[in-house]
Amino acid sequence: MKNVLKSSEPKELNNYKERYSTQFKKWNNVKSNRGTLTAIRSTLISDQKGICAYCEMAIHEKSCSVEHFIPCEQSTHKVNYDLDWQNMLAICLPPGAIANDLELPHNSPCCGKAKDNFVPDERLLNPLNLTTSLIFRFRSEDGEILPDEIACKQAGIPIEYAEFTIETLRLNVQRLKAQRLAVIDEITRELDERDDGSGSPTLLEQQIASEHFGNGGKNYPRFFTTVRWILGEGAEYHLANISYLG
Ligand SMILES: [Zn+2]
Repeated sequence: MKNVLKSSEPKELNNYKERYSTQFKKWNNVKSNRGTLTAIRSTLISDQKGICAYCEMAIHEKSCSVEHFIPCEQSTHKVNYDLDWQNMLAICLPPGAIANDLELPHNSPCCGKAKDNFVPDERLLNPLNLTTSLIFRFRSEDGEILPDEIACKQAGIPIEYAEFTIETLRLNVQRLKAQRLAVIDEITRELDERDDGSGSPTLLEQQIASEHFGNGGKNYPRFFTTVRWILGEGAEYHLANISYLG
C-alpha cells in the first residue's frame, strides 16, 4: 500500500451531484451514467499512477473497480459515502478478472474483495491519510509484506494497525507474494548485473530508480513500494529529486 494524493473532484461528478442534489443517489445510479463513471475511473487511475491503492498491482480503466473506503451501505440521507470523492479509490478487480492473471490461483481474494463490507476503524490504514509507505518492508525470500517496526514508530503508526491492514486486505495471499517476489528478483538481478564494482552502490540504485519511476509524470511500476524498498537510499535520492511526496 502506498499513499494516494488525490486531485480535485472531477467536474462530471460535481455536475452529477448538482443535477440530483434533491435526490438520494446511490453508487449504482452513478455507475449507469457512463460519462461520470469514466471520468471518476480515469481520474482515480491517473492520481494513483496506474496502481491499485491497496496491493499496488497494475490497474487500467478496464481492469479496475471503484472502491469506497467506507462501504456504500453506510450511506444515509445525511451523509452519502456513495458519492463522496474523498471516499473513492481505484483498486484491482477480484482475481480471475484480469486477463494476464489467468495462470494464478483464483480462490484468493485480496483488496476490496477481502475487505468486503468491513466498516473501517482506525486500525485499517487509509491510503489517502498515509503520510509515507516506508512503514512497510518486504521479505526477499518469498515476497511477503511486513510492517517495519522502527519506521512505524517514527511515523507514529501503531505496528498493530499496519499488521491489521495487511491481514484485512490479505496483502500476503500467495498470488501477490509470488508477483512481489518476481519484482524483487528482477531488481536484484538488475543491481547485480550492472554493478561493475567501479561506482557507488547508491548511485546505481538511484539510476535504476530513475529508470523505473521516471520523473513522476507517468504511471509508476507495479509494486512501487517494493521496488522503492529494494533500491533503498538510491530510491529515496531519486524520489526527493522529483519532489515525490509520501
Ligand atoms: Zn489490489
